[in-house]
Amino acid sequence: MLVDSHCHLDFPELSGDLDAVLALMRENGVTHALCVSVTLQDFPRVRALAERYSQLYATVGVHPDYPDVPEVGADELVELARHPRILGIGETGLDYYRIKDDCEWQRERFRNHIRAARRSRKPLIIHMRDAAPDTLRIMREERADEIRGVMHCFTETWEVARAAMDLGFYISFSGIVTFKNAQALKEVAKRVPLDRMLIETDSPYLAPVPYRGKTNQPGLVKYVAAEIARLKNVPLERVATETSHNFFQLFNLKKSNAHVTP
Ligand SMILES: [Zn+2]
Ligand SMILES: [Zn+2]
Repeated sequence: MLVDSHCHLDFPELSGDLDAVLALMRENGVTHALCVSVTLQDFPRVRALAERYSQLYATVGVHPDYPDVPEVGADELVELARHPRILGIGETGLDYYRIKDDCEWQRERFRNHIRAARRSRKPLIIHMRDAAPDTLRIMREERADEIRGVMHCFTETWEVARAAMDLGFYISFSGIVTFKNAQALKEVAKRVPLDRMLIETDSPYLAPVPYRGKTNQPGLVKYVAAEIARLKNVPLERVATETSHNFFQLFNLKKSNAHVTP
């Protein structure tokens, strides 16, 4: 069994063909996927997916790449997260690649998400691009280690991975790790222990090889797992079992509810 720890099934590339998306998950042994919210406007659609389908879960948060959407306070996030199928807070974090202004609003938004995660006892889904020092600094200042979470779609160095793991965070690899030109990231993936690792698609983006450039979907997370297995020289089944176990541990899901065999 496999779990896709990060996808966007409410995005138009995928929302119109959910039956096919769920069918490919079944076919490829992907038992669950976490549907991640990026704005308060999309959140009701994301929550509805998790309410409707037992194999889908959801999160609540406002992504750092959206400057012109309604801001969210910690109180509101705590309130929206009070739902059994909302597993985490995010995606949140810092993105200095896409947004070039002074970004103080991103840091303030990020702090609110960490405070909400600590109060609601639900882990963080952190997006970090070209902003590792500030991201790690704010995680430390806001005591993100007390609630933990996942560094999603990880593309940074081993030192950054190590620092995030020291704060109790998991490192999640996407289809990028299958790309030929991602040699440095492949080396990082070799070093991150399987018991600290998650895998994801970030679909509809970043489809893994051999689907690179096409629309991604949770069923394709199996190709991320296969690449990790190849890099670590372990059986695919072991990558599948360990990363799924990590997902259920981090998000406090009982194995029996999640149909995991020990
Ligand atoms: Zn992201
Ligand atoms: Zn995302």
